[in-house]
Amino acid sequence: CGIVACSGESPVAPLLVEALERLEYRGYDSAGIAVPAVDGHVEALRSIERVDDLGRRAAGWAPAVSATTGLGHTRWATHGEVSVVNAHPHRDCSGRVAVVHNGVLEDVTELRRALTDAGHMIVSHTDSELIAHLIEEAMSEDTDLAGAVERVVGGLRGSWALVVLDARTDELVATCHGSPLVVAEGPEGVFAASDIGAIAPWVEWYHVLDDGDVVRLRAGLPWHRGGVPVAPPPAVACSVGVA
Ligand code: GLU
Repeated sequence: CGIVACSGESPVAPLLVEALERLEYRGYDSAGIAVPAVDGHVEALRSIERVDDLGRRAAGWAPAVSATTGLGHTRWATHGEVSVVNAHPHRDCSGRVAVVHNGVLEDVTELRRALTDAGHMIVSHTDSELIAHLIEEAMSEDTDLAGAVERVVGGLRGSWALVVLDARTDELVATCHGSPLVVAEGPEGVFAASDIGAIAPWVEWYHVLDDGDVVRLRAGLPWHRGGVPVAPPPAVACSVGVA
């Protein structure tokens, strides 16, 4: 399973699909991408075929024409069968938030019950969708996406590499705990990925996230830990370089 996200200047869907092809080796049963639509909602395209099928469909997919921000996922199912509805990215009830998750959550039954009791409509059988709803809850109190993400992961148990999209602001936030995640900046934009190999042709260097790091995917990669700004860890040169 693998994650990729990008915020750049040019159409993002072809980059996401190409990166997902390079992540297929990590395990694969379904794949998807999501981008913000002009009305502030997330649009998602998901497939239980191979990534090249997703790529063919993405090429004719209207929301991808103008989107320069987006995220993608190849899934290796742990909670819920292989199906389009269980494929990532997952959305909250409002359709404003999209989440890609690599890892396994604990306390899933309790979390699902608490969210359902609070009125959330949970449409998949995954653990991952719960994170989108938890972020929706947190954003009703905290309008800053990074703050909401940090608050939510502070209450989770299990493992995660996460990238979260707010379709109203086009903002992306990345964080991890027990699953790998790197972030990088290059001529094509700002990226996050499970593995530097997925994004290597587009960047010259990258940073590896530590557990608990929260990074905004925008120029300068503003880095937080424990709610306070911190300097990013040292940059690692990417030997592949810019294509
Ligand atoms: N636990 C999640 C699921 O089953 C994510 C699995 C993964 O890392 O691909 O959908």
